[in-house]
Amino acid sequence: MVLLDGKYTSELVKNRIKNEMAEMQTKGLRKPHLVAILVGSDGASKTYVESKERNCQLVGFDSTIIRLDDSTSENDLVQLIEKLNIDNHIDGILVQFPLPKQISENKITQTIAPHKDVDGFHDVNMGKLAKGESGFVPATPLGITMMLEAYNIETAGKHCVVIGRSNIVGRPMSLLMSNSAPYGNCTVTLCHSKTVHLEHFTRQADILIVALGKPGFVKANMVKPNAVVIDVGITRVEDSTRKNGFYLKGDVDFNEVKEVASHLTPVPGGVGLMTIAALLENTLKAYKFQLKQTL
Ligand code: NAD
Repeated sequence: MVLLDGKYTSELVKNRIKNEMAEMQTKGLRKPHLVAILVGSDGASKTYVESKERNCQLVGFDSTIIRLDDSTSENDLVQLIEKLNIDNHIDGILVQFPLPKQISENKITQTIAPHKDVDGFHDVNMGKLAKGESGFVPATPLGITMMLEAYNIETAGKHCVVIGRSNIVGRPMSLLMSNSAPYGNCTVTLCHSKTVHLEHFTRQADILIVALGKPGFVKANMVKPNAVVIDVGITRVEDSTRKNGFYLKGDVDFNEVKEVASHLTPVPGGVGLMTIAALLENTLKAYKFQLKQTL
């Protein structure tokens, strides 16, 4: 079994971006700038945003975290995003979800200008993805295709089964894998909570992408021998013996599935790291677009 190493692969991407940045600096160009908005004090959200900031700085981007109170109104957040939308020195905007209940996530997603929507959640970018046109692709699905590319995994003509139909992972993933693109061209089956006889589909998968948020859900008997298995799930499982009180577990039973799969991502150290690499890639793309508009 080949371990699909997110640490190694994301470092390759980051080094490439870092080198490109160094080259741009010699031309006297400004740095790409990502703004992340964090509303409230959710521990996991704080960790994700801070990791995004750290990685931006690592590759030579500017990065700003705007921290807002739990009680922030939808209107105040909308007004802030509208200001960032027209600031020529800001290339990418992301709002960390979940948001407090008084704020509609859909409203906020649709407020971010599509050309700064580095998360790729805006309807314009989702529409482009559905039509196979160039736009911003959500970071997790994009990071997974970057991983498949790094390991030269053939996708054309393969049967890809995706478990989970969320708008941030499963649905865009299924579109990406079905699109006519170098790491696409699959025949795709999208499974979800109402799928009957899930194992019937998963056992046919040459590439199985699992994103349902149930730790250890996919067992060896659900996997076709020699399948490529991508575990997107990250659940914090309580563990009082650990300093931070939890450990991270994926949706795939790693110890079982490693005996059947040809390739498998670990959790942690797999898709999560690729998600950040893909976000950096999207920010660089937004920056290049913005530079063209302002030069
Ligand atoms: P979600 O809760 O929005 O969606 C879960 C999906 O799973 C739903 O579409 C549902 O229909 C499906 N589902 C639930 N139970 C099922 C079952 N028994 N059989 C088949 N399908 C079932 O979750 P999400 O936001 O897509 O996230 C899924 C997992 O991926 C979570 O663990 C999340 O933390 C993780 N995640 C990881 C990254 C990363 O960077 N690695 C990014 C985003 C999400």
